[in-house]
Amino acid sequence: MPSQNLQDYCDWCFAPLSEDALTRSRWLGLASEDTWACSTCIEKGRYRVPPEGWNGPADEWLARDEYVLSADDRRTVLNALNEILHGPDAIEEWEFHTRIGVTREEAAQTWRRVAGE
Ligand SMILES: [Zn+2]
Repeated sequence: MPSQNLQDYCDWCFAPLSEDALTRSRWLGLASEDTWACSTCIEKGRYRVPPEGWNGPADEWLARDEYVLSADDRRTVLNALNEILHGPDAIEEWEFHTRIGVTREEAAQTWRRVAGE
């Protein structure tokens, strides 16, 4: 269930936050720093530098080198994970870790993280 946060504005440009922006801020880990970015600031990568007022050295800002997944990237990752987890040719339990490098449960957690659930 999204958002117990009370903040409804972007920490970078102060624009209102959409549900999608809240989800993506959580997914990027911004929420763990109690910072929230609007969709525009995420798309433009503004969140890679700490917002004004963030207390800490800029080189410790968590998101500075992260790649931003576009909506198409997210859809691709989610669909690919869904196929290997639940599709008609889903990878079976016994060979999942060998082929993918993580357990089924870890892959399912990745799906939930990317999906923002
Ligand atoms: Zn913004």
